[in-house]
Amino acid sequence: MHKNFKGIEKTVYGRGAFNQLGDILNERRNDNGKFMLFVVDAYFKGKELEKRIPSKSEDIVKFINVDSHEPTTEQIDTLRDSVKSSKGIPSVVIGIGGGSVMDIAKAVSLMFTNEGSSTLYQGLNLIKKPGIYHIGVPTVSGTGAEVSMTAVLTGPEKKLGLKCEWTVFNQVVLDPELIASVPRNWWFYAGMDTYIHCIESENGLLNNAYSHAYAEQALKLCREIYLDDKSGQTPENDDKLMVASLMGGLSLTYSEVGVCHAISYGLSKILGTRHCYANCIAFNHLQDYYPEGVKEFKTMIAKHKIDLPQHLSKEWSDEQITAMAKVAYNLPHMWAHAIGPDWKEKITVESISALYKRL
Ligand code: NAD
Ligand code: ZN
Repeated sequence: MHKNFKGIEKTVYGRGAFNQLGDILNERRNDNGKFMLFVVDAYFKGKELEKRIPSKSEDIVKFINVDSHEPTTEQIDTLRDSVKSSKGIPSVVIGIGGGSVMDIAKAVSLMFTNEGSSTLYQGLNLIKKPGIYHIGVPTVSGTGAEVSMTAVLTGPEKKLGLKCEWTVFNQVVLDPELIASVPRNWWFYAGMDTYIHCIESENGLLNNAYSHAYAEQALKLCREIYLDDKSGQTPENDDKLMVASLMGGLSLTYSEVGVCHAISYGLSKILGTRHCYANCIAFNHLQDYYPEGVKEFKTMIAKHKIDLPQHLSKEWSDEQITAMAKVAYNLPHMWAHAIGPDWKEKITVESISALYKRL
């Protein structure tokens, strides 16, 4: 069986595209409870973008601080319950922010129409009904959250996405002006998430002409942004990064991630390390699996003088390392893609532990 995926319905791309959000929303102002729910990264509170949010008096604008923790099931349930009890069901949910805020917007849109706690729906195709119309406006590029069919949530028992067709945004607004202020280290880590998506998508069994076409183009853009003479955080490169992020996400949708994401998930789950940063920490030591990719990655790190700590594993206990290795081992789809169907003959919790000890 081949994968059968739903994509974003509408995309507007270009400098200043954010100015079109008001018109896009006006078409839907009579839906449901006739108000909009904006979820906005708290970074923008008091910034110029706050004044440009096309909200009307009936709308709700929630600023969300994403620095204290990644999105949680409790946070989604509380947001849904408070909006529903005060005003009802919004016409549209709009997420303005990086992967964290976009995932919050996707998840809350689904939870307005699906009853009970979001913990009930963590997994593949557990959501029962389509959510309400939702729009993603990325302000950090790299994770591909703007195009993916998952909203990653941390719950009391598991860190797992609400993953189904209806999670995908109905509309995205890609305005490269919005990512200009991303701090340099984060610009690098998030962009490397795209780069790693492509390297992993390409180097595995599920790679095919469709995923390859997206990865090839996204890698070309990544090299222009992070490697070439004109590399760096410039407006021209931000234009490219926004497209690379989308295409990297599409590449892995039709293929799969691999060893780096498996290792990275262990770091995030056990130590709380953030996704893009965890990927960089892991990828730096995966030369046995992705020799050319890791070599190029190291050149990019050096070129942009990015801090990437070494010898972290000295501080970790054997129990923590084993716990991380078990999380990574329990992602069979990634190992099967990267290593092959007989991966269990080559990869064990012990061999994964040895990889963590390199970090
Ligand atoms: P983020 O949303 O966590 O934001 C990172 C930091 O950048 C925050 O401090 C934020 O306040 C700040 N920020 C956001 N926009 C800014 C701007 N324009 N200028 C300055 N600062 C800005 O970052 P991210 O890396 O995009 O997202 C990570 C999250 O995405 C994690 O929660 C991860 O689980 C999730 N994720 C989701 C998917 C998916 O497919 N759904 C894929 C990968 C990761
Ligand atoms: Zn990733």
